[in-house]
Amino acid sequence: MIKIKYLKSPNYVFCNKRRNVYLIIIHYTGMRSFQSAVERLLSKKYEVSAHYLVGRNGKVLQLVKDNNIAWHAGISNWFNFKNLNKNSIGIELENKGHQYGYQNFSNKQITQLIKILRILKKKFKIKNINITGHSDIAPNRKIDPGEKFPWKKLYKNNLAIGHSLDEKFIKNFRLKKIININKKGITKMIKNLGYSRVLTATLLDKNFIKAFQRRHRQQLINGIFDQECYLILNNLQKFI
Ligand SMILES: [Zn+2]
Repeated sequence: MIKIKYLKSPNYVFCNKRRNVYLIIIHYTGMRSFQSAVERLLSKKYEVSAHYLVGRNGKVLQLVKDNNIAWHAGISNWFNFKNLNKNSIGIELENKGHQYGYQNFSNKQITQLIKILRILKKKFKIKNINITGHSDIAPNRKIDPGEKFPWKKLYKNNLAIGHSLDEKFIKNFRLKKIININKKGITKMIKNLGYSRVLTATLLDKNFIKAFQRRHRQQLINGIFDQECYLILNNLQKFI
C-alpha cells in the first residue's frame, strides 16, 4: 500500500482514450526545497509538471493523472520514440541537484519510488529497459537524476537494467584506453540499449558518454569511454 496525495497541476494535456505508455522517466527536482518544487510544478507560468513527486521524507504527491500527458521530458529520444511526454510517465524526486548541493537520495524516497514503479510497470506493461533517467533521453541537455541515483537497487528489484559484473574486478579497467576502438560496433551496442539520435555525431560525444556513466559507471563521470565502460556496455547486451 502507498499513500498518494493528489494536487492537480494545470500543466498537462488531457487524453480521453487510454494512452500508450511505454516509458517511465526519473528526474530530480533540482530545487532548494520540496515546497519550491511543488510550487513550480503547479505554476502555469513555468509550464512544467510530472505525474509524481516523491519527497525525501517519503511523501508522495500525484500532480497529473497517469492517463494524461505531463510536461517533463522536453526534447528527447529513446529507441524510435521522440519527444517522450506523450508516451511516458514522469517521476520527480526531491533533491537539490548539482546546482544547489547534490544529495544522496533518501531510503524512504527510494522505497516509495520502488512501490510506484512496481504499480506502473504492471499497469502499463513497461519493460525494464524503458525505465530511464532524464539524462538518458536528453543527454545534451540534462544530467538528472545523476550519478547518486541508485540504479543498482532498481536493477536488483527487477525495475531497470544493470550490469552484473564484479565491481572490484572491472575497476582495474577504469581509465584504461581502448586501443583500435571499433566506433561502429560500439555505437551499435549503445543504440541497442535505447540511446538514439544523440549518436549521429561521433561516439566520443562527451555528453552521451557522461549520461551512460551516470547510469552504469557512477564512480567516475569523465566523458571518456574507457575499457571499464566497454566491459559494462558489453555485459548490458544481454538485455536486448
Ligand atoms: Zn528532469
